[in-house]
Amino acid sequence: MNAPAVLVEGVSRVFGTGPGAVTALDDVSLRVAPGEFVSLIGPSGCGKSTLLRLIGDLDQPSDGRVEVFGRSAEQARLAHDYGIAFQQSGLLPWRTVRANVELPLALHGTGRKGRRERADHLLDLVGLADFAEHFPDQLSGGMQQRVAIARAFAEEPSLLLMDEPFGALDEMTRERLQGELVRICAETRAAVVFVTHSIPEAVFLSDRVVVMSARPGRITDIVDVGLGGERGEGLREDAGYYEAVIRVREALHGGAEVPSRGVETR
Ligand code: ADP
Ligand code: MG
Repeated sequence: MNAPAVLVEGVSRVFGTGPGAVTALDDVSLRVAPGEFVSLIGPSGCGKSTLLRLIGDLDQPSDGRVEVFGRSAEQARLAHDYGIAFQQSGLLPWRTVRANVELPLALHGTGRKGRRERADHLLDLVGLADFAEHFPDQLSGGMQQRVAIARAFAEEPSLLLMDEPFGALDEMTRERLQGELVRICAETRAAVVFVTHSIPEAVFLSDRVVVMSARPGRITDIVDVGLGGERGEGLREDAGYYEAVIRVREALHGGAEVPSRGVETR
């Protein structure tokens, strides 16, 4: 299949009308290849979540066009092309860990045995095989987020949409989960659009980092990270990694001589 995983062409999104209208996205175009990992980074309010929601058919553009694997976003959603994970894990507290991971499969008619096999495989992948019978509130925040990631992969999505999924986690847990995410993506060959505030996180995970600016939300730069497919922990001490971090930082701040435009770079 030659269609891009994501094709965003001339997309704008305006909220409200009249003098109070907010242009969240203005003429944004982006193409993501199948299996590619792309991060969106930029100041708060620059339209990252809006763009992700448009790609996921959770919202409609005011102008322009969104395609996923050559279909409309709606067709892609109906075909279960997506896996979605947001900052809040969104687990159902009354369902066990396994039942949470099985939920999308149950909703779409996968039989009991198939659901269970898939859920157990994914829980194994995220290191939670021993917690299948636990309930979400018996797990730490990092473990809950791992369950949410397993759930996002339940239907073997060809496109994963993640909005700051590690935003609420401590640095060590966060790095461990980044490593796990890279490994699972390599195994499943899913394309990923990943929203983050963190430059090191974007560089560690991504093939390309899309840099956005606010008011109106636009893409100002796309940094080719160019670190290849091997993403072990050693990468974090690699010269190429530091160099890419600097390139993204400069793209965010609009060049070395402009120190800051109030961009969040934590
Ligand atoms: P980011 O995720 O980059 O922080 P968002 O995409 O959430 O930014 O928001 C971009 C802009 O659009 C912000 O100014 C925000 O207030 C506005 N916005 C987002 N969603 C809505 C909505 N449902 N109604 C009105 N304004 C919205
Ligand atoms: Mg957001």
